[in-house]
Amino acid sequence: MTIFTKITNREIPADIVYEDDLCLAFRDVNPQAPTHVLLIPKKPLVSLDSFAEEDSALAAHLLLKVPKIAADLGLSNGYRTVINTGEEGGQTVFHLHIHILGGRNLDWPPG
Ligand code: IMP
Repeated sequence: MTIFTKITNREIPADIVYEDDLCLAFRDVNPQAPTHVLLIPKKPLVSLDSFAEEDSALAAHLLLKVPKIAADLGLSNGYRTVINTGEEGGQTVFHLHIHILGGRNLDWPPG
C-alpha cells in the first residue's frame, strides 16, 4: 500500500482540498510552487500505464476535475499539470497522481 492510499484511508494526515467518491486532492508536502496539489484516484492505480479501458470514465472524471480544483484554489492566471510516469519519468510514489502547480511563473522545459 502506498502513502497515498493511507491518505485516502485517513491513516495519515493530509491537507485535503477536494474529495468525492472517485478522487482526492491534497497539498503536496514538499511544494514546488506557491500552490502545489496532488489529485489522485481513490482506486490504487500505479501510474498512467495502469489505465485500462474500464477506467475511461475515471480518467475523464480526473481530468475534468483539474480546472475546477484549480479555480477553487484561485489559479486564475494559469497553472501546470504534470503526471510523472515510471522511474525515468520522475515518479516516486507509485499511486497515479496529477500534480497541479501554480501561483508563480513556471519555467519550461522541466529538468
Ligand atoms: P512524483 O515524484 O511525481 O511521484 O510525486 C510524488 C509527490 O508526492 C512529491 O511531490 C512529494 O513531495 C509528494 N508526497 C510524498 N509524500 C507525501 C505525503 O505524505 N503527503 C503529500 N505529498 C507527498
